[in-house]
Amino acid sequence: MNAINKPTVKQYDYDKIRQQDKAHFLHPWQVFDVFREEGALPIVEGSGNHIVDADGKRYFDAVGGLWCNNIGLGRVEMAEAIAQQALQLSYANPFVDMTNAPAAELAAKLAELAPGSINHVFFSCGGSTSVDTAFRLIHYYQNCRGKHDKKHIISRINAYHGSTYAAMSIGGKPGDHPPEFDFIKDTIHHLSYPNFYRAPAGMDEQQFVDHLVQEFEDKIAELGGADKVAAFFAEPVMGAGGVIVAPEGYLKRMHQICKDNDILYVSDEVVTAFGRLGHWFASKERFDIQPDIIISAKGLTSGYQPLGATLFSDEIFAVLDAEGSDRCFAHGFTYSGHPVACAAALKNIEIMEREQLLGNVKEIGPYFEQQLKTLEDLPIVGQVRGINFMQCVEYVADKETKALFPEALDIGKRVSNHADARGLITRAIVHLNVMSPALTMTRKDVDFIVSTLRESIEATMADLR
Ligand code: PLP
Repeated sequence: MNAINKPTVKQYDYDKIRQQDKAHFLHPWQVFDVFREEGALPIVEGSGNHIVDADGKRYFDAVGGLWCNNIGLGRVEMAEAIAQQALQLSYANPFVDMTNAPAAELAAKLAELAPGSINHVFFSCGGSTSVDTAFRLIHYYQNCRGKHDKKHIISRINAYHGSTYAAMSIGGKPGDHPPEFDFIKDTIHHLSYPNFYRAPAGMDEQQFVDHLVQEFEDKIAELGGADKVAAFFAEPVMGAGGVIVAPEGYLKRMHQICKDNDILYVSDEVVTAFGRLGHWFASKERFDIQPDIIISAKGLTSGYQPLGATLFSDEIFAVLDAEGSDRCFAHGFTYSGHPVACAAALKNIEIMEREQLLGNVKEIGPYFEQQLKTLEDLPIVGQVRGINFMQCVEYVADKETKALFPEALDIGKRVSNHADARGLITRAIVHLNVMSPALTMTRKDVDFIVSTLRESIEATMADLR
């Protein structure tokens, strides 16, 4: 194949695009009243950590798209790998007894990178479908073992696990559970989230962990004991729920309860894997826990192709694969193991290895963290928190009491609007701005983010006076 060159930017009539978008594209999380007035901003091109909008304005995208742009946008090498595969074999049926080389190679590579006995992979189209797959796999596994009553799923308030029916029900963000939508309520339950900044008054970190662990044990008892509980879902660091880094010991103790009670531990690493915290998978490498199931998406292809993976253990596979059972795993998607998406993931991993991007995250991450922390001297910054390339700023109306601004004030959005005007994209989630830039970020980029964010927060404070 001839080498691919960067194309000249394709021109569109953006007034028309805006009209078409408004009239026909229902966006994820569209806020109807606002959208009707303002519509959406077309993004035209991207390279590395930078994007350009339809008016030619250039931004540093500190959100990495949606926590997914890990190797940076617009890499020729990625385009070549995708084009090569699309021309050689653009699609192959993955059902029952056919396969393709990129899917098999990627499954083997993931088994190599994943911790312990996690050696099996089910491919889907993104994070939500991978969570849904885990949900179905868990029930299948428990039924195969004859544990037909072991069906309850336990998750946490403010967790985000995606947007299919099951994934959104497992998630626990109050804002994502509006009354107009329905949810699975009989078998999915939520515990408190491990946010020490908002822990009950008077508790130290250790007491807070004891309290959360007790709550888990109480919930298992309330549901009728361990024979009724199938699995516990947790992100190693909660992402959309506010970049919540749990206090020391929390994840290990929750994991131990799962082990002691034959409850599967599902680690949702859709955001935390593939380098965001400086590791392939953070569960074992950073937090020293060995999950039974790991969910991956986003950084798996750095967003170049839609792909998700549900990784699971030899122990689970052995139950499914019992000889003579005549079972069929009646679950799957037309695009499970899509050859082009898997080829993109393989090239993405190769680039991360070759450029030692995990090493860059370990080197620049602490500087990012430390520089962002300096914003805590501002009167409306309650807390800056995160690990390496996954960070968040929380705004408060009163630092003493940690009282929040009224939601209608949309403080995060006000700050991110000022940042937009200064060429910096940060993601507003009500009282927060979250950041998850590409893993190629440099110290100079960090300095730009932090100084721009400071100016944007100061401008917001001036507006509120
Ligand atoms: N799990 C986590 C932790 C996520 O952050 C997300 C998306 O942000 C998902 C699952 C869902 O992934 P997707 O949007 O690819 O379906």
